Amino acid sequence: MKFNTKTIHAGVHPDPETGAIMTPIYQTSTYAQAGPGDHKGYEYSRTHNPTRTQLQDNIAALEQARFGMCFSSGMAAIDAVAKLLKPGDEVISTNDLYGGSYRIFTKIFSHYGVVFHFVDMNDLEATKSLINDKTRLFWVETPTNPLLKVIDIEAMSGLAQSCGAWLCVDNTFASPYLQNPMTLGADIVMHSVTKYINGHSDVVMGVLVCNDETLHEQLTFIQNSCGGTPGPQDCFLVLRGIKTLHLRMQRHCENGRAIAMFLRNHPKVDKVYWPGFEHHPNHDVAKRQMRDFGGMMSFTLKGDHLEDAFQVISQTKLFTLAESLGGVESLCGHPASMTHASIPKEEREKAGLKDSLIRLSVGIEDVEDLIEDLKQAIG
Ligand SMILES: *Cc1c(COP(=O)(O)O)cnc(C)c1O
Repeated sequence: MKFNTKTIHAGVHPDPETGAIMTPIYQTSTYAQAGPGDHKGYEYSRTHNPTRTQLQDNIAALEQARFGMCFSSGMAAIDAVAKLLKPGDEVISTNDLYGGSYRIFTKIFSHYGVVFHFVDMNDLEATKSLINDKTRLFWVETPTNPLLKVIDIEAMSGLAQSCGAWLCVDNTFASPYLQNPMTLGADIVMHSVTKYINGHSDVVMGVLVCNDETLHEQLTFIQNSCGGTPGPQDCFLVLRGIKTLHLRMQRHCENGRAIAMFLRNHPKVDKVYWPGFEHHPNHDVAKRQMRDFGGMMSFTLKGDHLEDAFQVISQTKLFTLAESLGGVESLCGHPASMTHASIPKEEREKAGLKDSLIRLSVGIEDVEDLIEDLKQAIG
């Protein structure tokens, strides 16, 4: 089955009882047993729920993986992966990382004796130099937020294999439509389902997929023991959202391309960060491992004044100022004062996060309207 067909058919089947085409919302915590232990595969909904099962199977198929596990948020999924680790274990992670991932690693799991290294993974030598006999996990996020750097997943897989570590890829920004890390050597793929997979900004959820049976056993053990599982209503909403993932992504990419070109030619815009440009430093890797370049981008304004950026984001009418991304509606954000505000200005500048940097999550509206909106806002 090819990708577009999978979004609609993989893992889901008409209800055997009634023939209902759409997966029912099994709003139940428990299941009748004919005798002790004599059940139909479902005992308690933290462990298994039929609506969740169909969603897990569907996302696993989209990522070309055998197993899927859904969690109550992207962070709960990341938490489950980190719980594979023991005190003394070391993790090598992307440095340009989602803030919540950085926070859970440095503020929660470092207290349990897990050691984290953050490195620019485009620097293979620097990354390699962090490997030692305690390295257990490579944590890769690509494309990165908000500078849209692209990391070579196959190269990271090679490094992880060389030291017997797992490779987990946070694939949230790309979505399974643009990139399938399992086919590039990842052991685990993680998503904030909240973003592109659900795509309608009405659910918070996370997912992990993997191929290895032992890893799947360990992760489902953590999922069930720690209990960060989603309810059936949310699983239903995500199943519904996924059915148009391919159509949405196609439009996100088309609109993204048009807006990146518009911004690049705007006299007041300084730099545009979007991996689809040939001059983007990681364009070749992006072309190799991604199907298209997506609808996420950032740009800076000439002069780099905070006030100018504030002016733009307060004037847009269709681009709503908000956290999050990947929904059908266009959003804009200002990393220096929002997601990355807690980082001191000097550190921010060192990381390339300028004061005038504006991040866009380009939605699937008519692109002419989106461009008009940016035109009047940038002035
Ligand atoms: C949003 C996000 C997360 C966290 O997911 P939640 O669903 O908000 O818990 C993790 N990684 C990336 C790249 C994200 O954008």
